[in-house]
Amino acid sequence: MPTELLLATQNPGKLAEMRVLVAELPFRVLGPRDVGIGDAPEETGTTFMENAILKARHYASRSGRLTVADDSGLSVDALGGGPGLYSSRFGGEGATDAERNRLLLERLSGVPEAQRGARFTSAVAVAKDGAILFQAEESVEGRIADALRGPNGFGYDPLFFYPPFGRTFGEVPHEEKDRVSHRGKAFARLRRYLETLA
Ligand code: IMP
Repeated sequence: MPTELLLATQNPGKLAEMRVLVAELPFRVLGPRDVGIGDAPEETGTTFMENAILKARHYASRSGRLTVADDSGLSVDALGGGPGLYSSRFGGEGATDAERNRLLLERLSGVPEAQRGARFTSAVAVAKDGAILFQAEESVEGRIADALRGPNGFGYDPLFFYPPFGRTFGEVPHEEKDRVSHRGKAFARLRRYLETLA
């Protein structure tokens, strides 16, 4: 029987992306619903890695499974690094991605292209039985576009312009995003680790 691997996120967009990123490894991949976990821990860490570790530990101890958690966010230079750790709560807990993107555009209105630098960061942690077995952090640099572009991805992807592509992450197929993205790169390192367990 293949080992079970729990992906610790309640965000459907992130869960879908994470599933693709661990596909083809010899694990039976589960989401929180498959193990009956409907609540997420409070993200009280002061860094992406602290939050990834806190989430990995929470879901691992609740489920008894080998667990991968990612904490990620968008840091915008013109907002002093915000929303950063608060990316999923920008605009309030109940806000939609569309509302968050609108707010981001509003906050950056009048800011010239050269000052619209931003990066996505992904911290990944693996936990089992209270122990942290692996951690990795990666980021990708881009800038905030002046309008939403593209139907792909999730969250801030339609506003994240990636200069080497000349397009936003919302405009490229997920394989292209995964090759260069914060999460794609962190999960490439994760896959190399998981292969040693399989
Ligand atoms: P968390 O890691 O679940 O705390 O949420 C991070 C938030 O950052 C997400 O809800 C998105 O709003 C944003 N985010 C993280 N990674 C990405 C990405 O790859 N594309 C677009 N938005 C992202």
